[in-house]
Amino acid sequence: MGSSPLDAWITNDDEITALLAADWDRQTTTVQLIASENFASPSVLAAAGSILTNKYAEGYPGRRYYGGNYVVDEVEDLARRRLTALFGADHANVQPHCGANANVAVYEALLDAGDTILAMRLDQGGHLTHGSPASITSKFWKFVSYGVTPRSDDPAAPGEIIDFDNVRELALEHRPKLIVAGATAYSRQIDAAPFREIADEVGALLMFDAAHVAGLIAGGSHPSPVPYADVVTFTTHKTLRGPRGGAIICREEHAKKIDSAVFPGQQGGPLEHVIAAKAVAFKEASQPSFSTYTEQIVANAKAFARALASEGFRLVSGGTDNHMVLLDLRDFDGELTGKVAQEVLDRAGITTNRNTIPDDPRSPFITSGLRVGSAAETTAGMREGEFEQIAALMSRALRKRDDELALVEVRNDVAALCAKFNPYANFTK
Ligand code: PLP
Repeated sequence: MGSSPLDAWITNDDEITALLAADWDRQTTTVQLIASENFASPSVLAAAGSILTNKYAEGYPGRRYYGGNYVVDEVEDLARRRLTALFGADHANVQPHCGANANVAVYEALLDAGDTILAMRLDQGGHLTHGSPASITSKFWKFVSYGVTPRSDDPAAPGEIIDFDNVRELALEHRPKLIVAGATAYSRQIDAAPFREIADEVGALLMFDAAHVAGLIAGGSHPSPVPYADVVTFTTHKTLRGPRGGAIICREEHAKKIDSAVFPGQQGGPLEHVIAAKAVAFKEASQPSFSTYTEQIVANAKAFARALASEGFRLVSGGTDNHMVLLDLRDFDGELTGKVAQEVLDRAGITTNRNTIPDDPRSPFITSGLRVGSAAETTAGMREGEFEQIAALMSRALRKRDDELALVEVRNDVAALCAKFNPYANFTK
């Protein structure tokens, strides 16, 4: 296995050991372009796989409902201290099991059932927890949704950016108690300042969902929402490159309510092994090398976007400022859906996810879009040149999607590229 962390995963369960080995093979011989994924460091993996999984610790440091907490209290305090320092926040809660839990906990903390929330619509780039009818959030709170400006063919002003006139009009009309900024499929920077201005105008609170861009913010490659937002939620496993999980930072005045909403409001015992891994990730993200990493993520995404455009894909919102590129496949091939593109690329060893694009005529299951991201393969050491090669490989696979031999050839080329970029070769102990 070479420099693989796989040795640590050999279990006495042959079936699971074999499946772990199979996914190591998948992760290292195919290209990982899912914008919400990354390669966590060996130290993060070690903490997440540690004996702290054995400990029950309902409550918070110094206020637990079980005995024997002196170690996990220190772990959780360390994670909270590192997180507040990383983002310059007043208060941190590191217990949310995932980003969705973090968002629901904030709604529960700051709102009553039936209150109005203004957030980005799912098909415009928002997340399920921003009020999709498929999410439990829409059953408890009333959502009003803003979107992006219309697409334009003017390259200097391509449109499909957050429509602040729309946000303001809807805020004035519906007087939401909470405005949510942040997105799951949006490739431009999100400036929290205009959201704050609108929130103040209507007396609303402001939550910034930084699930995708938390790592970029930590590394200084995306403006921080912390000075503007009452609360910032995020996931720890995307650009932040930690374990799978969520976290919340907030102003001191909301701290007590947020903590009570996470536990006992939403969750039982915290995952202290994951909290230890979050602490490791927060420390890693505070190092100067992490800023170099996030700068490279953005440079790679920009090069990737340019190369994809030259292959004939239309870039939603005209390009990218972050780690993500959202492609409208219809200009490349009017017949090609996101679902088919994702499946073809999977066969060619290129892992992506289909995604709706603004005003998508196709259903969320089929879609006209594809979302790709640069965070994971930047961790593996790829640079602009490799992302340009990947754009060409994607185009080749999609053009020859009915030719199985051509797809095998692309897969072999992908494997040859991946062989030069072991994601675990770049981490130091
Ligand atoms: N918020 C946004 C903007 C997201 O993109 C995501 C995940 O994709 C979430 C929340 C939810 O995170 P999780 O999948 O950890 O629940």
